Parts: sequence; structure tokens; C-alpha cells
Amino acid sequence: MPELPEVEVVRRGLERWVAGRVVADVQVLHPRAVRRHIAGAEDFGARLREHRIGLVQRRGKYLWLPLADNRSAVLAHLGMSGQLLVQPQDAPDEKHLRIRIGFDDDLGTELRFVDQRTFGGLSLHGTTPDGLPDVIAHIARDPLDPLFDDAAFHEALRRRRTTVKRALLDQSLISGVGNIYADEALWRARLHYERPTTGFTRPRTAELLGHVRDVMNAALAVGGTSFDSLYVNVNGESGYFDRSLDAYGREGEPCRRCGTPMRRRPWMNRSSYFCPRCQRPPRVVS
Ligand SMILES: [Zn+2]
Repeated sequence: MPELPEVEVVRRGLERWVAGRVVADVQVLHPRAVRRHIAGAEDFGARLREHRIGLVQRRGKYLWLPLADNRSAVLAHLGMSGQLLVQPQDAPDEKHLRIRIGFDDDLGTELRFVDQRTFGGLSLHGTTPDGLPDVIAHIARDPLDPLFDDAAFHEALRRRRTTVKRALLDQSLISGVGNIYADEALWRARLHYERPTTGFTRPRTAELLGHVRDVMNAALAVGGTSFDSLYVNVNGESGYFDRSLDAYGREGEPCRRCGTPMRRRPWMNRSSYFCPRCQRPPRVVS
């Protein structure tokens, strides 16, 4: 699954290459790719045609293209392997091309949704007064959003009887933090993933949020170097994952701070990577 920095890179690419253009034609090549659009492929195309794409938006890992003039938006579900590509019209079709969107101008490019495993797709939704697609109205702001409320997040952490990694992955508290960036931020903050949040002090929450923002911004800086081309791509891969991870995927390798071998534990059908010395487990696991 792509995480927030990868999705933001795609958003910037779409903003540059697609925003402001008017849809001329929509071709759905595989019905599964619009299965979340209940009224079907034909309706999906009809509702997009002749509408202008507005400024491309993101919240957490959700990405959408608002239609500038009718209070609706195309929500992109990238799933495991979904890609949004801006390609020259005469470029050969990708093997797993699912949806093609052409524009009413002479820029010579079109938007393509390509998805090998077809878990992803596009769907059209009404928008809330805030401009969010109605189906994601419950998703909290992400930590890179200028309007994210640090104090409210701290209060919510203390109120909720939960543990720190669960809280970081709870999209109703804070969005866009996935398993990888949670492990990275917790390692930097020297917090064990099972640490209860009820006793968190304001400075501890502030420090944790600071680390979450740092790992995301670092990944964004790396991913952001590759979007300056016509090719807009997301598939969950990023150079950042190979080069810069301190915790995730490092089982058995020495902690970069203290040299202790890193550990991996199963956690909610996933894994948690941590340093047993820097990130001591809490005495009582809630
Ligand atoms: Zn360590």
C-alpha cells in the first residue's frame, strides 16, 4: 500500500498535469475498476464528461479530483497496485490499463488508471461543504495538514484507552500514518508500540508528532525528486524505503542508535519492528 508521501507525490503530479482540464471522454476497460461507483461504468463516464477537473486534493492516503463546477469528486482508490499515469495519447496501452480519461484540449496527454490486481479503482461521490468526498468525511486530518490540531490530538490520545501504535493507525484520530512510518516514528521517539497513551504528557505527544512529521517529510523529499516528469506513478515503492529506514524491515540488524539487534513481533496481522533496548515494553500491556 502506498503511504502518505507517495500519494502526495502523485497529487502534485496530477495537480501539474491534469488540474484545470476539461474531460472529453471516459473509457472504462474493466468493470471492476469502477465497482465502487454503484450506478456503473456508463454513468461514471457520463457524469465526468464536459466537467473541468479542479485542484487535486489529498487527505491522509486518500486522493481525489474535484469536478470544478458540480460538487462532486472522483476518488482514487490505489489499492495494492493502482497507478495514475499521465501519458501521451499515442503511447501504447499498458497491459493492465483499466480506465482512460481524455481531455478537451490539445495538450496531447490523457489520464490512465492502471491496476494489475484490480483492488483499486475510481468512483464519483458528492462532496461535503469542506469539499471532501462524502464517503471519507470521517477521516481525520493528516499531520502534514496545516489545520491539524495538535492539542486536540493530545486530548484524544489521553481520553482513549489505547496503545500508541493503534492510535497512530486510527484514521479517525490522525490519518495517513501507515505501518512503516509508525514504526519509524516510534523508533525515533524511543516508544514501544504497546505503550498506553493515557499517561502521555503534552511534550511527549509533541515529540511523537514531530517525529511522525520528520519521517514523512524525509520520504516526501526523496519521492518528490521523481515526479518532475510526465510520468505520474504510485505503486508503494519509493527510494526512501530502501535507503533510509531505521526500524521497519530491519529484524536482526543492529539498532542504529545502540547496536542491539532489532526485533520483529506480529501485530494486528502485520509486524512491528523495534529495538528492545531503546523501546522498552510497558510493564503492564493494556
Ligand atoms: Zn536501540
